[in-house]
Amino acid sequence: MPLYRGVNMERNGHEMDSVKQSGNLLGLNLAELEDFAVSYGQPRYRGRQLYHGIYARRVRDFGGFTDLNREFRESLSSLHQITYPEVQREFRSHDGSVRYLFRVGDGNSIETVSMPEENRTTLCLSSQVGCALDCRFCFTALLGGKRNLTAGEMIGQVLAVAAAESLARTARLNLVFMGMGEPLLNLPQVLKAVKILADSKGVGVALRRITVSTVGITPRIEELAREPRRPKLALSLNASSEEQRSALMPINKKYPLAELLRVCRAYPLRPWERLTFEYVLLEGCNDSDADARRVADLLRGLRAKVNLIPYNSGPELPYRSPPFERVLAFQQILTDHRIPAFIRLSRGQDIRAACGQLSLEGLRQSALPASAS
Ligand code: SF4
Repeated sequence: MPLYRGVNMERNGHEMDSVKQSGNLLGLNLAELEDFAVSYGQPRYRGRQLYHGIYARRVRDFGGFTDLNREFRESLSSLHQITYPEVQREFRSHDGSVRYLFRVGDGNSIETVSMPEENRTTLCLSSQVGCALDCRFCFTALLGGKRNLTAGEMIGQVLAVAAAESLARTARLNLVFMGMGEPLLNLPQVLKAVKILADSKGVGVALRRITVSTVGITPRIEELAREPRRPKLALSLNASSEEQRSALMPINKKYPLAELLRVCRAYPLRPWERLTFEYVLLEGCNDSDADARRVADLLRGLRAKVNLIPYNSGPELPYRSPPFERVLAFQQILTDHRIPAFIRLSRGQDIRAACGQLSLEGLRQSALPASAS
């Protein structure tokens, strides 16, 4: 049987090409799965059954699609799969967080972190393989930029962790696109993934529990603002002046801080929403009282909060975390200026936690056996 019978395939040509190559149905949305079913001479509602099975019931074997007729199931089994990223290695921290090194279809590695809390689990997802943006304090930047992930590879991170940790569909999840890569440079695929993740008939994660974090690709922030159903937005600030930010984050030369803040002020926040500014504290670099006062000035009047993240250091980069008293002093200045500020301690410090560190180690130690947990 041919892979496709060419019915109504033009609309979804790109995705269908990728399915033709990989055979993997993970990442197709409802309309694409309906078209897919029709290409097999099946009614459109078979696509809805596939969608429900892949994302809501999380079935991975076509034999489990007992609502499909046997002939269709057998055709699917012979030509297609529902494949999640493969767990290459996993690292368990004393604090309960788990870092997964996943192998994706083309052999590249990506990282996903699971951080369980009392009544929810936060998953930090990657949107690209590596990253080309070269933030000076970032371990992922040392890998360089390789390629965008597909929607299926992003959804696959969620479903693979849920499977590994036996998280039921009803488990409360927070999803943050804050792992490897700049999500707004892969916006179409990120939005496609978010729509399937946030669909109550899909993966079923509440939309307001999904956050996309960006260094500030301003035209893409404006594009995101026009989306009727969009995730929450976090901005990676990390500096208190143009000069300092350009030194730490070269992308600031292309999209300066002033322009970023202008776009943030125009961003159409929903009534329940505020912007999150992430600020990685680097000792002697961006952590002074003067820095804190400048950050307060920059954010004045914005409906926003600041997450202060003491740096998680490693031997590859020269930056260090400030003493905790400095972190507290920085927080106090922001609070005094009525900017809500929270200290976010990095999870999993005992397992080389910062994003990109696992992949760097993986490159160095690729000969090690696949179990480090
Ligand atoms: S901090 Fe984010 S955007 Fe910057 S290099 Fe690292 S992964 Fe890329």
